[in-house]
Amino acid sequence: MNDTYRHKGLRSQLVKTLIDKGINNSMVLDAIGSIPRHLFLDKAFEEWAYKDVAFPIGSEQTISQPYTVAYQTDLLQVKAKHKVLEIGTGSGYQACVLSMLGAKVYSIERQQALFNKTAEFLPKIGFGAIRTLFGDGYQGNPMFAPYDRIIITASCQSFPQKLIGQLKIGGMMVVPKGDTKEQTMYRITRVSENEYAEESFDKFAFVPFLKGVVKVNKMPI
Ligand code: SAH
Repeated sequence: MNDTYRHKGLRSQLVKTLIDKGINNSMVLDAIGSIPRHLFLDKAFEEWAYKDVAFPIGSEQTISQPYTVAYQTDLLQVKAKHKVLEIGTGSGYQACVLSMLGAKVYSIERQQALFNKTAEFLPKIGFGAIRTLFGDGYQGNPMFAPYDRIIITASCQSFPQKLIGQLKIGGMMVVPKGDTKEQTMYRITRVSENEYAEESFDKFAFVPFLKGVVKVNKMPI
């Protein structure tokens, strides 16, 4: 794993930028300060890894901006041993941040090419404990439910009811909801079997939460 002093220096600059932008959760900042984000991008784009921007990762998807990762993770109030479900594995970076906070992470991705790449990559950088799942996040994953926390890293037009149903009582879900251009970040808390509390936060722009899966096409023989 190629993680040099230069990378470490760029990472602490990134952490400073996040503090300037208002992130003050030290556990989240420590995780971002220690995960080698440059390894999540193609080598040619390494220079971009420690800038506070989103970046393309193939299959028309993006690795979220570090500020967005920090913001969502902070809202999620993750505690060690929490069972956390992430929708939208993408590069796997957000899943690693959750894992560093001591959570048991399950992460679902609908793009098979991206799923395959990330499932192979995470164990190589020491994050083999993250359970990557290929499927449609709208369905959540009843097999491992209920979850303490659910984080959706794609934009929803309405709150996904099936996922809310997979939260523990007292559990929380952080989800961007809005139109394709702009979404508001929400935190939903499952207060009792049939009651939910809703809080709203700042505006963001995510790639869309889409139904169904995209399988890798096999070459005809
Ligand atoms: N969390 C990622 C960023 C994700 S971008 C990271 O840290 O890099 C959003 C991801 O959500 C994309 O990879 C997209 O393919 C995925 N996605 C969109 N709709 C989905 C669905 N229904 N189920 C699972 N993943 C979905």
